[in-house]
This record gives sequence, structure tokens and C-alpha cells, in this order.
Amino acid sequence: MEMANCRRCKRLFPRIREPICNDCMQADEDLFNSVKEFLRENPKTLIADVAAETGASAKKILGWLREGRLEIVGGELKCKSCGEDITTGIFCEPCQKKVNADLDEMESSVEAARAALQADRSNIVTMHSRKK
Ligand SMILES: [Zn+2]
Ligand SMILES: [Zn+2]
Repeated sequence: MEMANCRRCKRLFPRIREPICNDCMQADEDLFNSVKEFLRENPKTLIADVAAETGASAKKILGWLREGRLEIVGGELKCKSCGEDITTGIFCEPCQKKVNADLDEMESSVEAARAALQADRSNIVTMHSRKK
């Protein structure tokens, strides 16, 4: 098994996927739960206040918002593409749709390129795009 130093506590641990050890991950989960608990009781709180009250860093709270694990109202979170207020995630809905569409397009062009590589050239037909 691959061993790695935990990025947080620097202890050596058998790395599976995350760059931090189980203990630190568990500590993160506990922190997340206390933030969630705090927000349930105080839904209208600024990120800075949540950080001060729970001990979770503002950066961490923002990370959870971007991961879609938390929601915030009041305009503290902005769409990364157009700057529109959002409550969770990275993009607002229209931008998310656009990103998804771009991804689809990218995927289908990759597919097309792959198909072209594997295509049988022996009976290829030439297209003439210019009218005579
Ligand atoms: Zn650790
Ligand atoms: Zn947007």
C-alpha cells in the first residue's frame, strides 16, 4: 500500500485517495457537522461569523459551498463565470447549463476524433463542400 504524509498533520498514513489521513478527515466531518448545526439554528449568518463561531476557516466554509454541501443566501457567493449571486456551487444556473453544454460538445468531438482514427479508410468517400 502506498504511504503518504498527511497534508494536515504530517503523519504517515496509507493513502487511498484523499491527501489527508482518516483522523483529519473525521475532524473535517465533525467540523462540517457543527457548521451545519450552527447554520440550522442561525440561518442568516455571514461566512466570517460562521467561521468565528464554529472554528472552521472561512476558506473551508467557502470550499463546502463550492462543493454544494452548504447553501448561503445574501450574496456572499458569486458565480465564477458571470459574478451573479448564487446560493451554492460554482456557477449560476444559466452558466452551469452553458458549462454542461460545452462539456457535452467537447465529449462529442473527442468521440468523433476517436471514431475518425478507427474508421476504415478503404472505402472512404470524399465530400466536396464547395459548390460547382
Ligand atoms: Zn492527518
Ligand atoms: Zn453565471
